[in-house]
This record gives sequence, C-alpha cells and structure tokens, in this order.
Amino acid sequence: MIYQRHIPREELFAAQLEMLMQNGQLATVTAHLIGVAATMAIFWPFLNITAILLWGAAFLILLLLRSLQMSNALVNRSYLTNAKRVYFKLILGAAATGSVWAAVYIYAAQHVPVTMQYTFLLLIVMITAISVGFSVIIREYFLVYVFTALWPIAWWSLIHYWEQPYNLVIGLSLLAFCAVLVVVCNRVYISFRNMISLNWERETMSQELGDLTASLRDRNKQLRDARRQLTDLANIDELTGLGNRRLVNTALKEEINRARRGGTNLSVVLLDVDYFKNYNDTYGHPAGDTVLQQLADIMTKATSRAGEVVARYGGEEFILLLPGASHDSAMRTANRLKELVELEAIPHENSSVADVLTVSQGVVTVQPDGDMLPSEVISRADKALYEAKKTGRDRISVSW
Ligand code: GH3
Ligand code: MG
Ligand code: MG
Repeated sequence: MIYQRHIPREELFAAQLEMLMQNGQLATVTAHLIGVAATMAIFWPFLNITAILLWGAAFLILLLLRSLQMSNALVNRSYLTNAKRVYFKLILGAAATGSVWAAVYIYAAQHVPVTMQYTFLLLIVMITAISVGFSVIIREYFLVYVFTALWPIAWWSLIHYWEQPYNLVIGLSLLAFCAVLVVVCNRVYISFRNMISLNWERETMSQELGDLTASLRDRNKQLRDARRQLTDLANIDELTGLGNRRLVNTALKEEINRARRGGTNLSVVLLDVDYFKNYNDTYGHPAGDTVLQQLADIMTKATSRAGEVVARYGGEEFILLLPGASHDSAMRTANRLKELVELEAIPHENSSVADVLTVSQGVVTVQPDGDMLPSEVISRADKALYEAKKTGRDRISVSW
C-alpha cells in the first residue's frame, strides 16, 4: 500500500546534520584559511610577529579540529547513532570560530589603523553572508556563529561610539544586518528542510513501489506455477499416472497436423481388457485397480521412442499414439504388448478366453491428408478393437 508518509524527526535531524557537514566542511576550511591569510596580511606591519604566528597556528588548529570532527562523524555515521553529541560539537565549533573573529576584531580596533580595521570587518561580514548558504541547514549552528562573531562586534562598537567616527554606524548596521540574517536564515532553513522531507518521501515511495512490484512478480510466478500444475493435473489419470483422454485429444490433434505436414505415418493402438467386468466381480474392484496399474506399466514399457504417447483412454481402455510408425512397426508394438501381458500371467478364472488376463487391440495406421479429424482416427481404431472382440478377443485387429 502506498500512502503519504512524513519523515520521522530523528531521520530529518540526521539528514540535516549530514548535509551540514558535507557542505560545511568545505566552507569551514575555506573560511578559516581566508581568515588566517587575511589577518596575517592585515596585522603583519603592526603587531609582534610571534603573536601573529601564534595566532595563525591556533586558528589553524581550530580548523583542523573542526574538520576532523566533521570527517569522523561522516565516516562513522555517528550523526545517525549519536546525533545530539555531533550537534553539540558542531555548535561548539561554530561558537569558537565566531568568538575568534569577534575577539580579533576588537583587538585590532585598538591596535591597527582604522582602514585595516574596516577591511577586516568587511571580510568578516562577507564570510558570514556567504556561509548562510552552507550552514543554515541547522539554524542554531548559523545563529550561534552570527551571535558570537557579529553581535559582540556590534555591541562593542556601540559602546565605544565616541572612540572612532564610524563606530556608531558600524554598531547599528551590524545589528540590522544580524536581524536581516536571522530572517533570511529562517527562510532558507525552511526550504532546505522541505527539500529533505520531499526527497525522503520520494525515496520511501519508490522503495515501496519496488517492493510491491517484486511481490507482484512473485505472485505472478506462483499463479503461473499453479496454472501449470492445474493443467498437468487436468491431463493426468489419477489411478495410473498416465495421460488421460483429454491429453490424448490434444496430442492426437497435434500429431495429425505434424504427420500431414511431414507426409509421415501416424499409428494408433487401442487396447481393452477382456472380460474386465468379470474380473472385478471375481477379485474385487481394488484388485481391478491394481491390474489397471500393472497394465499402465506394461504400456509404458512397450513404448520406447520419443514422441510416443501412452494414455488411459477410459475405464479399462488404453491408447498408444505412435508418430511416424508404419503399419508393421505398430503391429510389432501391439504384439509386444500382447506378449508382455501374457508374461504377466494375471490369473482370471472367469474369462472365457483363457485362465489369465488377456487384452484385445485395434490398430490403425493413417497418413493424414486434407482435414482428417482425431475422432476419425479414434473411431477407426475403435472399429478394429470391436472387430477383435467380435472375433474372439485376446487378439489384434487392424483397420484398413
Ligand atoms: P469386454 O471383453 O467386452 O471388454 O468385457 P468387459 O467386461 O471388459 O467390458 P465392459 O465394458 O462390460 O466392462 C468394463 C468394466 O471395466 C466395467 C467397469 O467396472 C470396469 N472398470 C472401469 N473403470 C474401472 C476402474 O477404474 N477400476 C476398476 N477396478 N474397474 C473399472
Ligand atoms: Mg473390456
Ligand atoms: Mg471397455
């Protein structure tokens, strides 16, 4: 069943963390490297070189730590198993970076010329603006960064408005900028989250659709197998395991067509037990059943070539379809059948022909042309069988 589903909260959160780290890693590395390069360039002429180098090294270590943390979380997939922990570490990283920016700016404001200070501020603002796109997927992450980097600078500037001509303007502008960022961040965040939810729903649905298709395929296969079994059952005689009259009718039609196309012979042997009613009456119906099974085995033994069909045509009547068999060949098969039945020597004391069970057979060989019907072939074999019965049983008659 396919239905609209909504992404569970934990899955949404894990997906947000994953996306933040995948995008954020590059952004973090870039921001830190630019930060280090720019601050070194800006402060080089004005500050103690050792202090600058120490500061650069510290910032690079921070970069390394944050980058490692994100890589580890992505590789271990700990954002799935331990989402809260990953989240807090990310927030901590954002706060650390933000605080460094703010601290460096406030320090610079007191130690470098105003132009350098403003250039540095511009750099911080630019990096912050650009990082919206990367980091807003977790709102708090971005906000923590903004409020540790820009917010302190804004308030410091407002508090020290008399020290430099533009401090008041800078403070107010930064506060306004923070407000705008919060609004933008909220909008972008909602779009990101919707995108993740939609993706999830689409994937879930296509997976469910795939499962459904697979189960339908299974069901179809089961149906096909069941149909095949039913067809087999419908064509098989329960008592003897041979084909039944239905199978004979189908096979005969096919063999007639094949013989017509190939201009070959088709022989049919129809076999009927002599005085079988008496046999049942004497030995009982179950014994009669056993005899029919014995006869089925004999019929199977008497057929040897591929394509030959042996079946139980009715009560105690059996049939052999011998494609390609000439009259002589069919007669040989019929005689062999007769011998095999004799060899079996099944006692039948109430038979008028012998003291063992005997059979009568009607043999017909045709070379089908025009539109010869299966019923015609059967009827000729039946006539021959009738002839065999009429002329004393325990014999083979031929239809010419
Ligand atoms: P004929 O020599 O003229 O063929 O005499 P018959 O007694 O064999 O012929 P008839 O057609 O009168 O009898 C056929 C008998 O076959 C009657 C029926 O009880 C028996 N029969 C048919 N099907 C089965 C079966 O599945 N099991 C058993 N035990 N007997 C069957
Ligand atoms: Mg009979
Ligand atoms: Mg009969």
